[in-house]
Amino acid sequence: MKLSAFRCFALLCVLCAFALSSVAADKPRVFRAGAATSNITPKLGTSINGNMADGKATHVHDELHSRALVLDDGATKLAIVINDSCLIPREVFDEAKRLASAATGIPASHLLMSATHTHSAASSASAFQSEADMEYRAFLAGRIADAVRRAHNNLAPARIGWGRASVPDQVHNRRWHMQPGTKLINPFGTEDQVKMNPGMKNPALLKPAGPTDPEVMFLTLQRTNGQHLALLANYSLHYVGGAGGVSADYFGAFADRIQELLRADRQDPPFVGFMANGTSGDINNIPWRDGDTNKYAPVEKMRKVADRVATEVAKALPVVKLHDWVPLAAAQKEISLGVRKPDDAALARAKDILAKAPNQFPRLKGMDEIYARETVQMADYPDRVEVILQALRLGDLAITAIPCEVFVEIGLELKARNPFPASFTISLANGYNGYLPTPQHHTLGGYETWRAKSSYLEANASPQITAVLFDLLGQLKK
Ligand SMILES: [Zn+2]
Repeated sequence: MKLSAFRCFALLCVLCAFALSSVAADKPRVFRAGAATSNITPKLGTSINGNMADGKATHVHDELHSRALVLDDGATKLAIVINDSCLIPREVFDEAKRLASAATGIPASHLLMSATHTHSAASSASAFQSEADMEYRAFLAGRIADAVRRAHNNLAPARIGWGRASVPDQVHNRRWHMQPGTKLINPFGTEDQVKMNPGMKNPALLKPAGPTDPEVMFLTLQRTNGQHLALLANYSLHYVGGAGGVSADYFGAFADRIQELLRADRQDPPFVGFMANGTSGDINNIPWRDGDTNKYAPVEKMRKVADRVATEVAKALPVVKLHDWVPLAAAQKEISLGVRKPDDAALARAKDILAKAPNQFPRLKGMDEIYARETVQMADYPDRVEVILQALRLGDLAITAIPCEVFVEIGLELKARNPFPASFTISLANGYNGYLPTPQHHTLGGYETWRAKSSYLEANASPQITAVLFDLLGQLKK
């Protein structure tokens, strides 16, 4: 290259670099959000899981939805999809992620998908005497992916903020220590130290076996013209129930009520409200000690709870600081955990109970027979299972995701020791691995620890899970 040509080339490079840097400096970072739902209501006749006996859908009280939120900071995209279902297995979420990822380019590790835990939805996972409906599973995976694609299509400039409200009156710990002398024999023929759902105003109640988390964390997305685009809340309440048909329970009622309170109806594209299940493995809505003298008409109670939570969120919303842009990030890790399998004596006892049962599956009656079948099934489980853990960062807000019915103590610890100033955990996310009690609760026993498809991870699972989540949060903080 001649000297003059080299000078020209060098000058051109300097000009190009200057032009590029001035473009980068001038171009404002644009934060975008999009939300959408897709209908996941099953056909009548589909299995309904969540109870000891299978149910069949004979009526639809309210439609079920996959509710998706897609966020984009200009460099990174994330999606959160909350689904009206009791339990959704890993296979369904993995297929939904594969489809959504292929259509939108968002990596699977950046997609957080969870079940709300409504007990009046279609079976996509086998639980007690309900069997997974394979036709519904295929439909569900496709519809979850559709929700992500539709939210992605709706991406538009938005502002983001988060805040907290408190609703202590709708959460009660459901595991109780009983008066000395109260015998608590479990379906394995041994004695528990606590009782789940011990009977309202039962004179033998002593004290709850754990705390509650009254906090409602919420995430708000607003359009640049001030219109509400989406609101995602997180509250640690198992479910409410009582709809008398297929229903999204209070989770769906919250989405409807918050839209009404924010005057966000009839927008184009529509506003989307979300209620994700927090850490509610040992929490429900029944005031065990004080009792509740109200007689609720069907549906009335779930609407009342939804209204209480939505009203407090709407009250807390005006003080939320809205950001024009925040950085987004995701981290994910799979860990191997041991399975609590029955020993030979437990298996022989279970087979004996089943041999003497007057009716067989799916008409087994009583906890002894039902847990005997679970014991036989658990003998065939693998010795170890892979468990998927995930953490998302939205500015100074962190969201952790666990594929279990997580005890409230674990959620409180994740909040208390979190490196981010605001955080919450979404349960039943990205898969389903049963209840997650703490090791201390495993020593107390009770329903949530009883070995079954609904509770099988090793007793020391929760400290391993929280350690990995803190490590993921540390990576996101950098
Ligand atoms: Zn549950």
